[in-house]
Amino acid sequence: MRPARALIDLAALRHNYRLARRRHGSRALAVVKANAYGHGAVRCARALAGEADGFAVAFLEEALELRAAGIVGPILLLEGVFEAAELDEAAAHGLWLVVHHEAQLRMLETTPLAAPIDVWLKLNTGMNRAGFLPDAVEAAWRRLRACGKVGEIALMTHFARADEPQVIATAEQIARFDAATARLPGARSLANSAAILGWPQARRDWARPGILLYGASPLADADGGLQPVMTLESAVMAVREIAPGEALGYGGRFVAERPIRVGLVALGYADGYPRTLPDGTPVSIDGAPARLIGRVSMDMLTVDLSALPGAGIGSRVELWGKEVAVNRVAQAAGTIAYELLCNVKRVRFEYCG
Ligand SMILES: *Cc1c(COP(=O)(O)O)cnc(C)c1O
Repeated sequence: MRPARALIDLAALRHNYRLARRRHGSRALAVVKANAYGHGAVRCARALAGEADGFAVAFLEEALELRAAGIVGPILLLEGVFEAAELDEAAAHGLWLVVHHEAQLRMLETTPLAAPIDVWLKLNTGMNRAGFLPDAVEAAWRRLRACGKVGEIALMTHFARADEPQVIATAEQIARFDAATARLPGARSLANSAAILGWPQARRDWARPGILLYGASPLADADGGLQPVMTLESAVMAVREIAPGEALGYGGRFVAERPIRVGLVALGYADGYPRTLPDGTPVSIDGAPARLIGRVSMDMLTVDLSALPGAGIGSRVELWGKEVAVNRVAQAAGTIAYELLCNVKRVRFEYCG
C-alpha cells in the first residue's frame, strides 16, 4: 500500500476548539466549510459534536452533508443561499442563514416558507466583499423583522486584516460595526481566528474560529498553544547517490555540488503538496530536519538524505504536521496554511483521538 497519508488528530481539534472558546469567552461556531479545511467535515463535526455550540459552513450542500451524518446542532450558512429554492430546505433543516445582500433579502421576502428561519445579518464594515453598508443595516433589519419568516436576527461582520495586529483597519471595522448596530437588538459575532487571538476588543456573543481549530495560527509570530491537527506524511521508496554536477528531476532545477544521497518519496502535487515549493523547503525524516531538493512531481518528490545515514527505504517523511509547521511550508510556497490544508487529496485519511 502506498504510504502517503493524512493523519488527523481529533483530540488536537477538540483542544483547539476549547482554546478558541476560552479565549473568546463565549460561544463559538466551529467553521468546517471546505470539508473542514481539508480535514474531513463529517469526521471533524462528529468529533466536536459533544462540545461545539454549533458549526459554520459556506453553503447549503455542505450543511446537508452534516445533517445527513447526524449533526443536529446549529449550522450557519456563511454565504447564505444562492437561489430562493434553497430557502425552504434550509428552514426545514433548521439551518441558520447569513443574509449579506439585497438580492438575498428580496428572496426571503418573496418566498413562502413552511418554518421560520434564523438569520445572521452581515454588515460590510470595510472589507467591501459582502454585507450591507452601515447606513443600510437598520432598514435591512426592519425588513427581515417585517417579512414574518425570520426568527432570531443576529448581527455579524468579517475582518479583512485581523491577522495584522499593528494595523488600524480592524479597530475601524469594530467601531463602524458598533455605531451601525447600536440601536439593534440581537447577538453579535465579529471574531474569526485571528481576531480571537489578537483582538480582544472584537469579543462578542459568538466567535467563528476556522483555521485555528486546525492548529495553524493566522498570526505571524505565535502558535498560542495550538496543536496541529493534520500530519501529511509518506515514506522513502527508493534511494540513490548523485555525483557533483548531476541534476535531479524535472527541469534539472537542483544540481548537486557534492555527492548527494537522494530519497525518493511517495507523495506529489496531485496529493496537494505544491509544485511551487523551492529547494530547501523543510521536511522531517524519521523525526530529523531535512530538506526538499528538486522539483515536486505529480506522484513523487525528492529529499536530501546526505546528513541522515540511518535513513533509507521505509523512512517516514513528514511534509507538515507536528514536526514541520504547515505555516513554514505555506510561507515557502508563497501562500497560507488555509490553501495547503484545503488542497490535500488522493492520500489516505486516517483519524485518531
Ligand atoms: C471562513 C470564515 C471564518 C473563519 O475564518 P478563519 O480565518 O479560518 O478563522 C469566519 N467567518 C467567516 C464569515 C468566514 O467566511
